[in-house]
Amino acid sequence: MSENKIAATYPGMSKDDLILITGAGGFIGGSLARYFHDQGFTRIRAVDKKPLPQWYQHVPGVENLCLDVSEKENAVRAVEGAVEVYNLAADMGGMGFIERFRIECLRSVLINTHMIEAAYRAGAKRYFYSSSACAYNTTLQQDPHVRALKESDAYPAMAERGYGWEKLISEMFCQEYWAERGFETHIARFHNVYGPNGTWFGGREKAPAALCRKVVEAKETGKHAIEIWGDGTPTRSFMYIDDCTKGIDMITHCDKLIATPINLGSSELVSVNELVSIIEEIAGVKLERNYDLTAPRGVAGRNSDNTFIQQVLGWQPGISLHAGLAKTYAWIATQYADRKAGKRVVTETV
Ligand code: NAD
Repeated sequence: MSENKIAATYPGMSKDDLILITGAGGFIGGSLARYFHDQGFTRIRAVDKKPLPQWYQHVPGVENLCLDVSEKENAVRAVEGAVEVYNLAADMGGMGFIERFRIECLRSVLINTHMIEAAYRAGAKRYFYSSSACAYNTTLQQDPHVRALKESDAYPAMAERGYGWEKLISEMFCQEYWAERGFETHIARFHNVYGPNGTWFGGREKAPAALCRKVVEAKETGKHAIEIWGDGTPTRSFMYIDDCTKGIDMITHCDKLIATPINLGSSELVSVNELVSIIEEIAGVKLERNYDLTAPRGVAGRNSDNTFIQQVLGWQPGISLHAGLAKTYAWIATQYADRKAGKRVVTETV
């Protein structure tokens, strides 16, 4: 994108404005660095606590720093000169991780606490925070035939223990920095994001990646069976990564969405059984299903009500689950083959 196009798409910004992304060694942060690079921004700083060789993506021309931003001085270093700050860093994973490691999840509060203060003091123009649908009241999610969650459903609060409460309190930091200090913040509540370049084994992976891997494995080994966590009835919606990065951009650059949490998720609700069927269809197999009723399972149902995002942005995530899973499955199949061949692959173990 040329300087003119940047100015037209991002009023008040220049292509040389420094964009800082934390958690950029991970799935969404790494994809966001690539997104802004592809938009034509020339100064992007990517920060993650993982050593550089373990980052999921290395985007050309991007400054990569290995810093733990839950430490104040590292947060201060990270934001130096930044015009926009996107905080995607968090200690997180799928259900297996967030149910088991609640303290680690809660400790992510240090990341946002230091990052938002540092960004404010450094004079950044905008601050984005990645919240989650886990911030919603869990009592509204006890039936697979759920009513989709709208933004006001976070209060009265009864968030997911650990992970969800950390998101809720960090959202409040963002709202109060705007209310008290006039610092422009934006907050998206992501609903299950999936796609290539995400964790696919090791204990932090989420359902779509784990199921794709299990189907690849079943084909490879010739054992035509799959183990499914829970009884297959819980429902969720899943957003493809390209919708997520586009949505983050639109939300952060919308004046009507300052300090206003908004859903960023797909509203295409499926059960875990349906998710497995779509992956089987993509892979061209039919597997015997074995249900592990002792495994972590999370709430019974969760969907994104997209009335508000549609109303404010005239847009909502629209990439179909089938199309997104086809790309994700192909990527995981390649990763699987690479791992088997002894090549380096994307992972993070718990
Ligand atoms: P991810 O685990 O792939 O990436 C997070 C990255 O943050 C990791 O690379 C990790 O090393 C880094 N990190 C953790 N602590 C850090 C610290 N102290 N300093 C610097 N880096 C640190 O996860 P993701 O899926 O890319 O998630 C990104 C954000 O989106 C997180 O805030 C997460 O809670 C939120 N979110 C994700 C989903 C989803 O479905 N993936 C859903 C809801 C919310």
